[in-house]
Amino acid sequence: MSREDYEVVIGLEVHAELSTKTKIFCSCSTEFGGEPNTHVCPICMAMPGSLPVLNEKVVEYAVKAGLATNCDISKDSKNDRKNYFYPDLPKSYQISQFDKPLCEHGYVEIEDEEGSPKKIGLTRIHIEEDAGKLNHNEFGGGSLVDLNRAGVPLIEIVSEPDIRSAEEAERYLKKLKSILEYIEVSDCKMQEGSLRADVNVSVRKRGAKEFGTRTEMKNMNSFKAITRAIEYEKDRQIDVIEEGGKIYQETLRWDDVSGKTFSMRDKEDAQDYRYFPEPDLVAIKLSDEYIQKIKNELPELPESRKARYMEEFKLSEKDSRLLTASKYLSNIFEQAQKICGNAKAVANWLLSDISRILNEKEIEPENIPFTGKDLAKLVSLIDNGTISSAIGKKVVEELFENPKDPEEIIKEKGWIQISDEGAIKEIVLKILENNPQSIADYKAGKDRALGFLVGQAMKETKGKANPQMLNKMFLEELNK
Ligand code: ADP
Ligand code: ZN
Ligand code: MG
Repeated sequence: MSREDYEVVIGLEVHAELSTKTKIFCSCSTEFGGEPNTHVCPICMAMPGSLPVLNEKVVEYAVKAGLATNCDISKDSKNDRKNYFYPDLPKSYQISQFDKPLCEHGYVEIEDEEGSPKKIGLTRIHIEEDAGKLNHNEFGGGSLVDLNRAGVPLIEIVSEPDIRSAEEAERYLKKLKSILEYIEVSDCKMQEGSLRADVNVSVRKRGAKEFGTRTEMKNMNSFKAITRAIEYEKDRQIDVIEEGGKIYQETLRWDDVSGKTFSMRDKEDAQDYRYFPEPDLVAIKLSDEYIQKIKNELPELPESRKARYMEEFKLSEKDSRLLTASKYLSNIFEQAQKICGNAKAVANWLLSDISRILNEKEIEPENIPFTGKDLAKLVSLIDNGTISSAIGKKVVEELFENPKDPEEIIKEKGWIQISDEGAIKEIVLKILENNPQSIADYKAGKDRALGFLVGQAMKETKGKANPQMLNKMFLEELNK
């Protein structure tokens, strides 16, 4: 059988650090970084006799995430101890949720390969605490533990095995990230580990009813690594099966340098976490009013924003989707269009030149160095004829290099459009004088000659001449 006879099945467990000010069971800061062991107290260092107190904000943020992903919110949930030993886990158990998670049965909508909507089911979202961090080999080969991250609140979002390709996995993760950013419960900084995924992969023959055995790659925090790892693991599993072998349920490590997965531990030494209810915390009981209040306070989410852009600004489905994919891009769009009133032009700048530069320079939308106000100014300067769109492109480049009011940029650079009739005429006459052949060509019926002449005039003025006026005046002169 060939590779095409197999399909890949993927389920993701995503951990997102919540952006509450304080930790989940104590009042220490959740801030990233800091000198090792400075954001700690007896509770998050697990001193004997210390007792946890649940941070209400954590419940609120998790409920928000659940409502934004179409989950049922449990009015009766609880915390459980998940027991395992690891040096970055000072209590030797993690407080998590086992059989009664806060949120269940949700979904996130993405586009499938054909561009039609597809729902990826969410099994559950639960709250738990993060572990500390081991710094290896810094001191003569030893490892030192930093507990600043211990007790930082997490939500774990577990998907159903509904994902069918590496691209779908990437789209799902991007959508989830976008939703969490919109509702402001996590900063989702993947490089800082605020958003990371355990990736479960299996393959099966197309049309088969049963799933194949899955392998799991833990703690992945880059879209690129995740898609590469899925492709690799899919091919590896197909090869094993084609050669008559068997897939074992095991945890793998993805090595980004060699582009391969390696076995870490198999199901034989699978952990028995001996879950039991956390005796130091009371059950989490939520009222209908509490849940409804959070629901009422949810901001506009990407899906409804997209629909509004299509309706209100008559933008295409694709443009609306691209603009709303990132809250940050979308916010710049909203601000700019409100000021200049030209939604189409603002969308075009954001989705063409600005998106291209973001890609080239690998800048995330949240790090765009200029504001919607700057973009609005740029659009207005073009709309009122102060600059041409060719100059507009140069202004955009400049906004990334040296962000400031576009009006100042064009003054400083001397980029104001030449729209003075006398000045334009002078240029036209000069270009005609230097290009007698083009005049002859035009008269012989070669319309292309006009384009050439306009091009020459633009070159002469470094793109500053008003192109409509140039066209008109060349025609007048040529037809005299
Ligand atoms: P665990 O907590 O031991 O990792 P779970 O039952 O919670 O196990 O499943 C974890 C993830 O694995 C879920 O996201 C689920 O969708 C995914 N998953 C389960 N079975 C498969 C499979 N056969 N192929 C791919 N993914 C799977
Ligand atoms: Zn603490
Ligand atoms: Mg797992």
